[in-house]
Amino acid sequence: MRNLFHHGSISRTSLAMETALTPMAVSRIVRELVELGLVAEGDKETRNGQRGRRRIELSLVAPGAYVLGVKIHVLERRVVLADLAGSIVHESRWISSSARDSRRTLRKVVEAVGRIIAQSKVDKSRVLGIGVAAAGFIDPETGVLSPSSYTGGEEVDLRSALGESLGLPVIAENSNSVLALAEARFGEGLGRRSVVLVQVSAALGGSILVNGEVIRGASKVAGLIGHIPAAGARRRCSCGRIGCINTVASGWAVLADLGLTGAQTLVEDDFESVAERLNDLIARAATGDKKIGAAFRASGRRLGEMLAGLWAALDPEMLLLTGPVAELEPYIEGMREGWRRAGLPPLDPERFRVSRRDPADAAALLALDEFALGPRLDVVRLAHRAPSLQATRIAVPARVFRPEDLAAPAASRTRKQWPKAL
Ligand SMILES: [Zn+2]
Repeated sequence: MRNLFHHGSISRTSLAMETALTPMAVSRIVRELVELGLVAEGDKETRNGQRGRRRIELSLVAPGAYVLGVKIHVLERRVVLADLAGSIVHESRWISSSARDSRRTLRKVVEAVGRIIAQSKVDKSRVLGIGVAAAGFIDPETGVLSPSSYTGGEEVDLRSALGESLGLPVIAENSNSVLALAEARFGEGLGRRSVVLVQVSAALGGSILVNGEVIRGASKVAGLIGHIPAAGARRRCSCGRIGCINTVASGWAVLADLGLTGAQTLVEDDFESVAERLNDLIARAATGDKKIGAAFRASGRRLGEMLAGLWAALDPEMLLLTGPVAELEPYIEGMREGWRRAGLPPLDPERFRVSRRDPADAAALLALDEFALGPRLDVVRLAHRAPSLQATRIAVPARVFRPEDLAAPAASRTRKQWPKAL
């Protein structure tokens, strides 16, 4: 299934070569997938070399299966329904009026999922699983979201709560890890196995992939890039310590530099209101306001200095920035300046990207990878009803990066370095 997803269409012979399965095994598996309505034989037939045998191209049937992606962030909640081609076919988005009421959030997510499935009129038995991307700390083994200033004061078992309500398997990760994994498996980082992702919004977050896997750390909290100490920083961070990079290189730091914070320390400020004020400031910066642009540039410089150290230590294949602040040109310019100041050669454009993928879309891609394209495909659920579906050729997943924001075209990549499922 993964081969079909990435190739768009492929013959049985090529599938056998790529998977190292015997032609007989490939034919048997393909026959089952065709019967389940997941794979269709295309109309394109080619002659195979001198022997003149027919090669029928196979492709995924986009409406053959669906997955859901859920984003739970401080203000914004989003639920998307994606088809087997990875295209978003339906979505629901809302701004939370009670960001810290995690029980209410879950109820609303369950309602949104029900509404989306009803409105899209898809066969429920063809929805195979849910991916969740949440701000805050999620234990990847249990799916439990810890209490945090982002999503509420209660511990929530996302996997059980959503899985039992909806009768579907769930994978749940912190948004930064969801984005890093989705970019490495489906995005411009395709085939990259070591990735540093830094998310820049009100605070800084991150995720580090090595060998295609998220580095968890001894306490499962690796990737908390925002709490790296920054020289000369004097403000108190959300973690309670003084001088974290969060307090000089984040969106909140820009608000603080401009005297727009609600409190003197990040730990005391109200995150919902910080997010609202930051959205407003970003909108003003995007109109070319020089004073605000300079503040974002100064903040970006501090990030660049820190990232240069991280880069030197980890030597990743790719650095990805994401988040609303990272989309601002002055911030990226400042980041490059800080990088140069640290004495490193300029960032190789082949190894640096800004990702604009929404975490809900990324979560849907991970769910697709986990529950539809890999061995966890629920054949029994699909066999329950296997109507003959009209074959729809798979579409190439939407591009996430805007090349005009980058210094050079995307690298050519091999499609064979496909990491194992989560
Ligand atoms: Zn901190």
